[in-house]
Parts: sequence; C-alpha cells; structure tokens
Amino acid sequence: MSTIRALLAHGRDALVAAEVDTPMLDAAVLLAHAMGSTKERLLASLPDEADEDLARRYDGMLDERRAGRPVSYIRRLKEFWGLEFHVDEAVLVPRPDTETLVDRALFLARADAGLVRIHDACTGSGCVAIALAAELAGRVVTASDISDGAERVFELNCARLLGRQLPFFRSDLLAATPGPYDLLTANPPYLTDREADDLAKIGWPEPDLALRGGPDGTAVVGQLIREAVGRIRAGGWICLEAAAPQLNRLAALLDQAGFRAVEIEQDLGGRDRVISGRLG
Ligand code: GLN
Repeated sequence: MSTIRALLAHGRDALVAAEVDTPMLDAAVLLAHAMGSTKERLLASLPDEADEDLARRYDGMLDERRAGRPVSYIRRLKEFWGLEFHVDEAVLVPRPDTETLVDRALFLARADAGLVRIHDACTGSGCVAIALAAELAGRVVTASDISDGAERVFELNCARLLGRQLPFFRSDLLAATPGPYDLLTANPPYLTDREADDLAKIGWPEPDLALRGGPDGTAVVGQLIREAVGRIRAGGWICLEAAAPQLNRLAALLDQAGFRAVEIEQDLGGRDRVISGRLG
C-alpha cells in the first residue's frame, strides 16, 4: 500500500523522465481523474492510503500520457468557457484562444438583439456554438461540421451541457447549411500544410482535418468567406479565428467579399486572433 502523496510523486517523476512539459500539473490532474475527484480534493487527501486498483488505473493513464496522448483525451474532458466539454480523438481540443472568438461574438450579439440566427461552422466539439447558446437566450444557434465524429461529439456535448440538441448540419463548410444567418462564427482549420505535416510526423493525435488549412493556412477560411456571402444577410456579421500572420490576407478577402467594419481582436496572449466584419 502506498499513499496518495507517493502516487503523485511517482507520477510526476515518470512524466519528468518522459519530458512532458507540465509534469506536476499533468500528474495531479490524472491522479484526481483516476480517483474520480478534483485537484482540490486530491490535495486534501495526500496522506490517505491508495488502494491497488487506484494505483493500477493511475499507471495506465501515466502510460498513455508518456505515449504522447494529451491529458484532455485521457480524461475525455476539457474546460472551455467554464463548461466541461467531452473531447476525444474525433475533435480538436478547445483552446483558451478560442474564448476570444466567443467573446467577440457575444459582444456583437448583445449589442444587437436583431442577431437572432447564429451559426457556427467547423464546430468540432461544439465549444463555440454551445458557449453562445448557453449565454444567449432567445437566439437560434445552429452548427455544422464535415466530420461524422464531430457530429457525435457535438450531440454528446449539447446533451450534457445544454440538456437539449442544437440543430446540426453535416456539411463541407456551408454547402449543406440552410441560412440565412445574422451572425456566422468559425474556428476553421488554419495551420499551414507545413505545420500540419510537422505535427503528423510526431504522431500528433488531433485530427488533421481540424488543423490543416492549405499552403499558407488560409485555404479553408478563404473558401468559407466566399461561401458566407451567400448565407449571411445584408448587415449580418462574420467572426473568425485565425493565426496572426494570416489576418492581413483575411482582411483583404473580407473586403473583396463585401464585408465592412473589419476589426481584429487579440487573444489572452496578446496575439491577433479573431477577425470580424459586417456584410455591407
Ligand atoms: N490554434 C490551434 C493550434 O495552434 C489551431 C486551431 C485551428 O487550426 N483551428 O494548434
């Protein structure tokens, strides 16, 4: 028999040896998960005895982490916008950066009660659509994604976080979505092919489909902007996440497509991350 404290130390050492970036944090989060508990309660139970079953479950999780599986996929949970989303290998793990997209869309929606029909394309886990639906009563939030795995995860998250389903469309970008929309949001795949290739080489577990954005990362979002013109009503808004070096090009694409009042917002790390505009 060992104690919880000893298990935690063993986990930290194992993850340090495997050169995991945040060994102590990951060891604690996984141990709490193996205990069916929280990090806070874990700290209160450090002197307690740990049974062998717990030690075995914990070792299994440490093995997965050492093999490069992210903690979010091992726990099958990721917090975003204060909500606990189910995540698995079918979807991108929600990033804190994407809360900037939710922030901007909420700001626009709260400033104009006429923005009723809100659609989130490339929704993945549904983190953006579900956060918006949780915040905005009386609006119609819908979502789409090309991936059937994403559809499954989206439905799971609607059930667990909203207690109801939001309309979902299996669609290559907007091709099979009805519209018209007053506000369109998306966090599309925007890594460059080269960045996506580098991740594939190291066996990165997130879906390539959710990451790869073409030679300069703007191929998918560029296509989305072109399609959006036929789906957003005049005076409606688009709100997109991208990488900072892409935003000049996206501003030009939005301008060509007829969007005005184009603005850029920064993420918590101070990097340009979200671009929005209003269809003239
Ligand atoms: N922000 C993600 C990353 O850096 C990419 C997300 C995306 O392509 N939509 O890994």
